[in-house]
Amino acid sequence: MNYGRNLIEGKWVEPHADGQIDLIDPTNEQTYGCTPSSNDADVDSAFRAAERGFSTWRNTTPAERQRALLRIADGMEARANEFADAESLDTGKPRAKLVEEEIMLSVDQLRFFAGAARNLEGRSAGEYLKDHTSMLRREPIGVVAQIAPWNFPLNMAVWKIAPAIAAGNATVLKPSETTPSTAILLAEIAAEHLPQGVFNLVLGGRETGAAMVRHPIPQLVSITGSTRAGLEVARSASADLKRVHLELGGNAPVIIFRDADLNAAADAIAMAGFFNAGQDCTAATRILVEQSVHDEFLTLLSEKVKNKATTGMPSDPEVLYGPVNNERQFRHVKSFVEDLPSHAKVVVGGKSPGGSGYFYEATIVAGVKQEDRIVQEEIFGPVVTLQSFADEAQALRYANGTSYGLSSSVWTRDHGRAMRMSRLLDFGCVWINTHIPVVAEMPHGGFKHSGYGKDLSAYGFDEYTRIKHVMSYIG
Ligand code: NAD
Repeated sequence: MNYGRNLIEGKWVEPHADGQIDLIDPTNEQTYGCTPSSNDADVDSAFRAAERGFSTWRNTTPAERQRALLRIADGMEARANEFADAESLDTGKPRAKLVEEEIMLSVDQLRFFAGAARNLEGRSAGEYLKDHTSMLRREPIGVVAQIAPWNFPLNMAVWKIAPAIAAGNATVLKPSETTPSTAILLAEIAAEHLPQGVFNLVLGGRETGAAMVRHPIPQLVSITGSTRAGLEVARSASADLKRVHLELGGNAPVIIFRDADLNAAADAIAMAGFFNAGQDCTAATRILVEQSVHDEFLTLLSEKVKNKATTGMPSDPEVLYGPVNNERQFRHVKSFVEDLPSHAKVVVGGKSPGGSGYFYEATIVAGVKQEDRIVQEEIFGPVVTLQSFADEAQALRYANGTSYGLSSSVWTRDHGRAMRMSRLLDFGCVWINTHIPVVAEMPHGGFKHSGYGKDLSAYGFDEYTRIKHVMSYIG
């Protein structure tokens, strides 16, 4: 694969670039390629191309946009194995189920937005002032800047470009500097089916992302990444009042009451806490267990995690997850366990198996307190914490008591309690007796430091439109 070029106006171009960024295989820490750090001039040519692309794309019918997106989805499906190989190399994800679990999911989400293109309705026209008719136009925003992370590189790229293009916008996408490959493949396919300039790809890291946010052309910046990055983007975008769509970190509580199906809850956490090495903003991270079943649940969970949450090489079909994606993240994950306060205790795992690669054992830390760093900050790795609570009120205080607000789950057989909790939990998603499933039809997005704006669903589609009031004198 050629990691060295941007896609601008339908053509692959060598960027001017301020240097190169090494691509590191997270399973062995070896360099397998390098990608450019696109500079201001590269970003400028991408946005100018997008501006020209928008001038024609905005005039297409929903049916035309739907057709183009369906063709891109078909193109991805036909090359699903190639996507999976590329994704596995960049991220270290186990290869065996990647087509089914991530590539085809992305294809499905692209098809969802292809359909959504034809379902953009407004309220009917009406007279709100004598002799005047009002109507609403729902329009594309224009040119958008989109910045994706490394944990689900293809999936996040699709969540961004699909609604933007379906609504009639033109986009400049920047994948993460550690995982550009599937975005390059996606751009290759998109270039076959979209007019020039509608989808442009710019490669680079934080500096390139910052240059995109500073650029005067985009009217909206959408980023999925850390809260740190989101805050920087929001600050920079406020300088010229760009709209901002932020999908940031999470630190999901899993609240388990004594009447819950403890076995099912432990099974769910052994998967949802460790799948993708815990690098999921909705990962089941903070386990809150009612006091009377705390010890029983810890024993149950420990057994499940030891047996099911296995890590190893991406080529091994038996492992649940591979290495952490990059060295910075690896150091971040390790630091939580190295810096544990004396009252906390590692019950399972707690170290790297050794050798090369950013592998980290599935880890359970019990005895933590609400104010501990490991509870308050997002770990984004294969580490979960366990706390006990006395009653609903304390469970809620603990659950809501961090700066994040993306997702949560409640485990109980008491319907009234589940409903009371879902009303008061300060999270964009509350799962009941399940944790982690995502569907294209429902919105994904957080509150507080998890950001604002929704992905997926009709609400995610709306994010890429603007509303215009047209009033006509009819007297
Ligand atoms: P990151 O913030 O370092 O990078 C994310 C992307 O933003 C990358 O493409 C990066 O190059 C770019 N970037 C970083 N700083 C920037 C800046 N100042 N201006 C412009 N662009 C910038 O995050 P990461 O470490 O790659 O991703 C992991 C984080 O993303 C985790 O915190 C995770 O929870 C979050 N995440 C959130 C969601 C969600 O839907 N809410 C989904 C996936 C990941």
